[in-house]
Amino acid sequence: MSHPIDVRNQQLYDLEQFAVPQAVKNDLQGILLPQGLIDNRVARMGEEIAKNYAYGNTLAICVLNGAQHFYQQLLNSVFPSVHNDIQLESIKCCSYDGTKSTGEVQINGLDFTAVRGKNVLVVEDIIDTGLTLSKLAQKLYEHDPLSLEIACLLDKRERRNPQATVKPEYTGFIIPDRFVVGYGLDFNGRYRLLPHLGVLKEEIYQK
Ligand code: 5GP
Repeated sequence: MSHPIDVRNQQLYDLEQFAVPQAVKNDLQGILLPQGLIDNRVARMGEEIAKNYAYGNTLAICVLNGAQHFYQQLLNSVFPSVHNDIQLESIKCCSYDGTKSTGEVQINGLDFTAVRGKNVLVVEDIIDTGLTLSKLAQKLYEHDPLSLEIACLLDKRERRNPQATVKPEYTGFIIPDRFVVGYGLDFNGRYRLLPHLGVLKEEIYQK
C-alpha cells in the first residue's frame, strides 16, 4: 500500500548544512532526514490515508509522546480531503528506558470502549522490535474495531523481534539501526523540538 523511502545506506548530512541549535548540534552525529523531506513524505502518507478513510467513523489514536508531531502533521494533510469528523484520542505505551527496550509494554490513557465499531488508525513514531505495536494492536482487536490500520513514520526493520506480528499499512521511511531524535522523538525528554531527524552520538546515551 505505501512505498517507504529506504535510507538505510544513506550517509548522514553534515550538521553545518542545516539550522540546528548549537546545544543540540554537539550531541548529534549528523542529520539523517531533513525536515522538508519528512514533511513532504508525511503529506504524501496523508493523501494515501485520506483515500481509505473517506467514509468516516474513524478513530485516530496518537501513540504518545514521540508521535505527537507526526500525528499533527499527518492529520493536517488528511483533513482537507476527509470532510467528515475524525475522533482524536491518544495513548501512552511505554517499553523504553533511555535507549534500551525493556521488552515489557505498558499501555495507558485510552477508554477502549471507544474502539468498538470504529475504523481505527494508530499513529506511531517508530517501529523497532515491533513489540509495542504488536501488543497495542492485540489489545485494540480485543475491543472489536471495524478495521485497524497503522501509520508509522520510521521503521528500523533490522531490529524486528520474530514475535512481533504487526505490519504497518503506511510507513514513511526505513531507517538504519541507530538511535534517532527530533521531529518529536526524544531521548529522556530532550531533542523533541529539533525539526530534523538526527542521529544521537553514542557517548550521549552511554554516559
Ligand atoms: P518497539 O516496541 O518497536 O521496540 O519500540 C518502539 C518504541 O521505541 C517507539 O515508540 C519509541 O518510543 C522507541 N524507540 C525505538 N527506537 C528509537 C529511536 O531510535 N529513537 C527514539 N527516540 N525512540 C526509539
